Amino acid sequence: MNQIKAISLNLLIPLFIASVFAVILYNAQKMPEILFDIVVYLFYGFSLLVIWVSWHFNRNRFIFVIIPLILIYLGFEYFDAKKATLLFMYASMLYPLHLMFFLIFKERGLFSFWGILKIVFVLLEISLVFYLLYYPKESIETYLSIKLFTANFYPLKDLSIAIGIFVLFVMLALVLFGRYLMYATSFFILLLTFYGGLYFLKTPNATEVAFLAFTTIIFVLLIRESYRLAFYDELTSLPGRRAMIEDMAKLGRKYSLAMCDIDFFKKFNDTYGHDTGDEVLKMVASKFREVSGGGKAYRYGGEEFVILFPSKETSESLVHVDNLRQQIATTPFSVRNRKSVKKIYINISAGVTQNSQKDKDPFAVMKRADNALYKAKKAGRNQVIKG
Ligand code: GH3
Ligand code: MG
Ligand code: MG
Repeated sequence: MNQIKAISLNLLIPLFIASVFAVILYNAQKMPEILFDIVVYLFYGFSLLVIWVSWHFNRNRFIFVIIPLILIYLGFEYFDAKKATLLFMYASMLYPLHLMFFLIFKERGLFSFWGILKIVFVLLEISLVFYLLYYPKESIETYLSIKLFTANFYPLKDLSIAIGIFVLFVMLALVLFGRYLMYATSFFILLLTFYGGLYFLKTPNATEVAFLAFTTIIFVLLIRESYRLAFYDELTSLPGRRAMIEDMAKLGRKYSLAMCDIDFFKKFNDTYGHDTGDEVLKMVASKFREVSGGGKAYRYGGEEFVILFPSKETSESLVHVDNLRQQIATTPFSVRNRKSVKKIYINISAGVTQNSQKDKDPFAVMKRADNALYKAKKAGRNQVIKG
């Protein structure tokens, strides 16, 4: 269920952006004309902005996605009709594959070995298209114009539609298997937006508006990505300490808080290795994410977690924290040795407390929860103690 929610939300955001632009275009008659006079400049300007932001965030895949898009648009604008028509055909077949590759390729430094390989790859793509435009190959053109469907997708070729369906299918698989969810969902919509821009080539302003929608989707994706980097923990993908401090500032008059810590984790690392320790942390974090009673869990640091329970008293949240403790204590974790698979159990200890009028700030409440946690450790671990 959680997964479906995540997929829907991630799909809805880019879909919403694309739809807004589609509605604007559909109602072009009612819009002020100036809007469409500047849309091309908005596309160029926004694209450059996206390139600049991508460069700064080291999210180079977007640079590789945007530059060919700009070139395609420039080609449509400035080539003669024959070249532009050829460019249209090649772009509509190559660019979807290009998008797919740059979704799948790992993010690397622009001037690392792989980064340079990508630059070469893009330069080769561009040179190939230029070559085919300046030295047209009729045999290739006929070959690419092969009829595959009974329906007609003019001005798009059937092969381009087939490639599009294939790429959409790959992206859908990535979405369903939860790989790069935020990216794959956006790229899915990006591809549809690109096709929309090409399919409605003859509609005034449609291509410009679609390409502007395209860059806007990437821009929003970059904003969401920077938010994720700032507030979410990389290993467990739980919200991190910074998110916790932000949320604490928004807490109401009554709340309770649990400080939790994995028992004997140092020993676990020493026995099974740090990598296995990381896997266990992820498993434990996934339990924390599903804590009941309206609590929200954060990775406070290392193997320590905080749960905030807005408008709950200690006695109420204690029940939920103890359920969680029990859940974790009874879930086996499989550790693969060279030959055998061993089942291990992990415990946590926790201290729970609520705020009172004497507390100057939430950190005073945390201190009390931490003291209770310390008592839980002293008392033999695998338990929850009220502070
Ligand atoms: P206890 O809390 O029960 O008193 O014992 P402990 O061994 O868990 O004690 P302590 O809190 O001092 O040790 C925390 C250990 O957690 C230290 C470190 O090896 C491990 N740890 C912290 N962060 C990570 C991480 O991100 N990955 C892994 N694998 N281990 C981590
Ligand atoms: Mg600790
Ligand atoms: Mg510990």
